[in-house]
Amino acid sequence: MVSNINAREKNIVSIEDPVEYTLDDVNQVNVNSKIGLDFARGLRSILRQDPDVIMLGEIRDEETAHMAIRAAVTGHLVISTLHTNNSAESAIRLKDMGIPEYFIRDALVGIISQRLVRKICPYCKTEYQASPEEIVKLNLSSEQVLYKGKGCDRCNHKAYKGRTVIYDISYVNDYMRGFSKNSVLNVENSIEESRGATMKENCMELVKSGVTTYEEFLRMCL
Ligand SMILES: [Zn+2]
Repeated sequence: MVSNINAREKNIVSIEDPVEYTLDDVNQVNVNSKIGLDFARGLRSILRQDPDVIMLGEIRDEETAHMAIRAAVTGHLVISTLHTNNSAESAIRLKDMGIPEYFIRDALVGIISQRLVRKICPYCKTEYQASPEEIVKLNLSSEQVLYKGKGCDRCNHKAYKGRTVIYDISYVNDYMRGFSKNSVLNVENSIEESRGATMKENCMELVKSGVTTYEEFLRMCL
């Protein structure tokens, strides 16, 4: 996401733990607990430089959460991660960290929720006829084939090689904001309502197209 924002025209700063990829034109700061430079302290010093975009590796404490939300409502684009089970839970997590609901509603632009699934090894991938259970669970037509690996030397007989992402995206737009303000819907329900194709649907497509297996679909517990 940061690479997709034109860094020449914008002042982009990141605080990461640790910096994983070096990005051109982005001022990247490493969290350093030895000298007390945590996310909260790093963010405080960065805000003095008034950047356009702030990438925060993770929001995991109340202080960072408050500063990140404040930065977002005062015109900075803040990109960060939260560890939750789904998109809607990110609002609950922020509320648990003491952020008032109206603040979350004003600050939040969108949420991308993602998990990793294993990919079928392309060297030993084979077709098989979908079972009655798979037909029901995946909404398949009766004659549909699915795919799995047999295991080979190239995948160390694991039948999988590499991983890919399954995701869903919720945009919290002005309509949703107004909607949740004037109704009994809280912000996590608004996120749920505004979500596009779900992670489950995304995963089902990957099973049908032979990228991953039904076994992986079940393992995701979607
Ligand atoms: Zn293989």
